[in-house]
Amino acid sequence: MSSNSHGRLLLIVGPSGVGKGTVVKILKERHPDWIFPVSSTTRLPRPNEQNEKDYYFFTSDEFDKKIHDNEFLEWAWVHSKERYGLQKSSVLPYLAAGKIVVRDIDIQGCEAIEEQLSRDEVISFFLLPPSREVLIERIRKRAPITDDELEERLKSMDMEIERGKNCDYQIQTINNQPELSVEEIERIMEES
Ligand code: 5GP
Repeated sequence: MSSNSHGRLLLIVGPSGVGKGTVVKILKERHPDWIFPVSSTTRLPRPNEQNEKDYYFFTSDEFDKKIHDNEFLEWAWVHSKERYGLQKSSVLPYLAAGKIVVRDIDIQGCEAIEEQLSRDEVISFFLLPPSREVLIERIRKRAPITDDELEERLKSMDMEIERGKNCDYQIQTINNQPELSVEEIERIMEES
């Protein structure tokens, strides 16, 4: 890793089900010195998810208060239903201390952060799905979903892939081989 005097926020972007979480998990195992902030959300925890570990789970009123108190670096409605946001306090002190901070985020969050931070503080990677079919299968496996919700996710996917062209790098993911995506990200980080 080239030494940076300033920290860097590495954003892992891509549609639901593309495997952002797995990529982040592998990066976390391989880079104990990097920071992996927890986001906040109004959605309910899924089975096996824990408050403060997977997300800070907030009620709508609690989330409103955090927006009002200007606590978020960015926040967004995701899939038109629930709100997600990244708190400033989870990111900015670490960047100031020269750390690498890694977060998976949707495309709106990525765009909002890129507008706020300076160009050399953020690097964004857009993960492209192996195929539409694989993505549908993964979304269906992850949690029960109605046909309408699936339709909504697929609409989001098309929009995200279009806007994701503006991310710094596109990573073509290969089914069941997330370590290949991780290695590509690490190689780019080394070189940049
Ligand atoms: P999930 O509910 O499946 O954990 O996440 C849904 C989507 O929200 C994913 O695309 C995830 O990357 C995104 N997300 C997670 N945290 C944040 C955040 O802090 N801000 C934004 N804008 N999106 C987020």
